[in-house]
Amino acid sequence: MIDLHVHTTCSDGTDSPLALVKKAASSGITILGLTDHDSTAGWAEAVASLHGNMQLVLGAEVSCLTEDGVSVHMLGLLFDGENQPLQQLLADSRDTRIPRMKKMIENLQGAGIDITLDDVAAATPPGATLGRPHLADALVAKKIIKSRDEAFAGLINNESPHYVSHFAPTPEDSIKAIRAAGGVAVIAHPFASRRGQTLTPESFNSLVAAGLNGIEVFHRDQSEEERAQLISIARDLDLAITGSSDYHGTGKLNQLGENTTSAAEWERLESMASHRRVVSR
Ligand code: AMP
Ligand code: ZN
Ligand code: FE
Ligand code: FE
Repeated sequence: MIDLHVHTTCSDGTDSPLALVKKAASSGITILGLTDHDSTAGWAEAVASLHGNMQLVLGAEVSCLTEDGVSVHMLGLLFDGENQPLQQLLADSRDTRIPRMKKMIENLQGAGIDITLDDVAAATPPGATLGRPHLADALVAKKIIKSRDEAFAGLINNESPHYVSHFAPTPEDSIKAIRAAGGVAVIAHPFASRRGQTLTPESFNSLVAAGLNGIEVFHRDQSEEERAQLISIARDLDLAITGSSDYHGTGKLNQLGENTTSAAEWERLESMASHRRVVSR
């Protein structure tokens, strides 16, 4: 089973890279893609934890914003982790997540909700890319809400008055940075309409011009109809098709391997990276 999109405590997942690698191997995953939000901080621990026959695909999920303000997630896989422009882009995104969190907390406080930056810091693992899930965990710890899901359905939803965005590159700029670093770019859950506004089918043309390699089609946040539309776009534009769990540990219902990528599509994607960077023991 090939699962190319999972998160650890280096962003908003709840398993450490070590725990995740162990769990994936025992769940029958043969190729695992490590894609923490805007960070490669988990790579070293994951590589050191590798055992048995499982192979590791190192990557990151880059938070992007279109010029029209649509939130897009770009999976970068198999890029050179030492590439400075890409690491700078990830660092800029992480840095602006701190003032962004402060603003969201001020908005919540303004609405009479008892939450502070210290509460959120206490809910964030050391070194993790700070995100709304940590704010959700802090709200749960203070018994203001019951779960991350409840937080995302209301208080901290993209459409909520408390929501604030953070700096993010455009999808085109992130694709160019990933490709320049030798990797491949796969757009994550592009038609996940329940998360908020999505891209139009026409916007895929400029992503392809920037160097897009693939589309994540099989993902729990995309309906059968959305998947069918994406498959037709991928065929028209000659893009690889992936499926993945977007596993976050106990932070979400998603289970490892619940959606997977076929071996043929994976081979096609891998061949588009500048070097063979799959890690095996
Ligand atoms: P942020 O990047 O800080 O705006 O937070 C967005 C992240 O929250 C996404 O990348 C998801 O991984 C996570 N997320 C979105 N919806 C939910 C949900 N319903 N439950 C848990 N996590 C979620
Ligand atoms: Zn996440
Ligand atoms: Fe995502
Ligand atoms: Fe994700």
